[in-house]
Amino acid sequence: MQLPREVIVGTDVLNRITEVTQRLNLHGPALIISGTKSYKAAGKKVYEILKQTNKNTQSFLIETTLTNDITQIDKQITKLKPQILLGIGGGTIIDATKINSNQHNIPYISIPTTASHDGIASPLASIKGPDKHYSILSQAPLAIIADTDIITLAPWRSVISGCGDVIAKFTAVKDWELAYTDKKEYYGEYAASLALMSAKLITENATLIQPSNVSGLRVLFEALISCGVAMSIAGSSRPCSGSEHLFSHALDLISTNRAMHGEQVGIGSIIAAYLHGTNWQQIRDTLKQIGAPTTAKELEINDEDIIQALKLAPTIRTDRYTILNKQQLDYKKCQIIAKATKIID
Ligand SMILES: [Zn+2]
Repeated sequence: MQLPREVIVGTDVLNRITEVTQRLNLHGPALIISGTKSYKAAGKKVYEILKQTNKNTQSFLIETTLTNDITQIDKQITKLKPQILLGIGGGTIIDATKINSNQHNIPYISIPTTASHDGIASPLASIKGPDKHYSILSQAPLAIIADTDIITLAPWRSVISGCGDVIAKFTAVKDWELAYTDKKEYYGEYAASLALMSAKLITENATLIQPSNVSGLRVLFEALISCGVAMSIAGSSRPCSGSEHLFSHALDLISTNRAMHGEQVGIGSIIAAYLHGTNWQQIRDTLKQIGAPTTAKELEINDEDIIQALKLAPTIRTDRYTILNKQQLDYKKCQIIAKATKIID
């Protein structure tokens, strides 16, 4: 079980990077991994601060998590032999940092510039293959520094996506309980409770989630970090990813028009709650309250793709038993479900 040792969330906290690295006894060469935009937003500042006390600080910019980018980082690490990696950016950058930190057995610090999904604190990384996305168990960050001043500059839609990803834990945990009951799969009560608590935190504080409300952003960060910790404790994405995520992954494969990850899993969570026979209306109402899409139209994805994605979802990950496995999801049934949950007309 790996857990972050330092978590700093607040305004103007990037300059605490020196203090954090010193406290963690990280004095050797440092490599910052960032993207062009995130480097401008935060990476450059971190570089300049670190450089003052650590002359051996370098930056390397990437834009995707395609295998080629991972290889490029790998080459940089082999060349520079850093003792610490700093992933500064959105989920893609942090995932790429995570994968390399794990491969080279070097700790990393996560410095997110958006709050769009729970990858900022989790040990899981998603990597883009030629035809599929893969989830790899890597390692959790040694520290997380989330500067709310920078995160408020990211599009508001990314905050909504982050909330959707957290609300989805209601159904992810339901699927995990089901796998325990039906398949005797390992179920960790503590990890499940942490994930559920995060989802409740967002639901109870939905009115705070508004642009320029720093308290709302703090709530979201605490929830996202708790989700990451839940995955670290479980040793898998189980507490945070169930049928709603399978639906979103299926949508990624089917639809040419993609919405953000958390927006898609939010819709998936409405469907999953409906299939579990729980209060799907409450999930929909919370999503509505924070301004997240709850219909295909709002997601800007056509009705047909929603139906096809639901039909495809149970085949996405055969090792992940969910409520979808208990259904005979033919085309007609998927259409009825999408209509009953008011996702399509
Ligand atoms: Zn997710």
